[in-house]
Amino acid sequence: MKTIKETIREITERFPIHQWNCLSTGEFDFQPQVREICEGNACGQYGKTWSCPPAMGTYEECKKLILSYDNAFVFTGKYDLEDSYDFEGMMEGKKQFQEMCRNIREFWRQRHGRCVLLGNGSCDLCSRCTYPDAPCRRPGDMITSLEGYGVMVNHLAESAGVNYINGQNTVTYFAVVLS
Ligand code: SF4
Repeated sequence: MKTIKETIREITERFPIHQWNCLSTGEFDFQPQVREICEGNACGQYGKTWSCPPAMGTYEECKKLILSYDNAFVFTGKYDLEDSYDFEGMMEGKKQFQEMCRNIREFWRQRHGRCVLLGNGSCDLCSRCTYPDAPCRRPGDMITSLEGYGVMVNHLAESAGVNYINGQNTVTYFAVVLS
């Protein structure tokens, strides 16, 4: 049986992670205002998928879930854009990052069984989400939104010592594996 430390080392060698670190979940900064930003629906995904609020539970329930784990493996992906308006490039980066997250989660599950991974933004695996009329079609593949849990991702980056942004014409996505 591999240790968590060995698994993380192998993940960082196998996958194109930009930066990473390990934190205690006690170092996370939770703020109800982050959920309020979700409720403002600037991204258009609030109430649209099982992976975003309100389907993922209340702010307090989400915070409790994260704090029920001790350790967090925080990692980022960095993707190049043509310019700061390159929406297609951002969506392509999101797709690549979520694919990497699913592969990392599967790798972790094979080693340690259950694994909770929180990632970037909403789930767009299906052309039309079943929310709220029927259960999720692929609950094992879905990635829930880290921001939806009320986590201040810029503070998470600071605590982990990884870049929140990586310069002009790039986009950076964050994910966390809880253990
Ligand atoms: S897997 Fe499909 S049904 Fe489930 S949250 Fe994603 S888009 Fe919705």
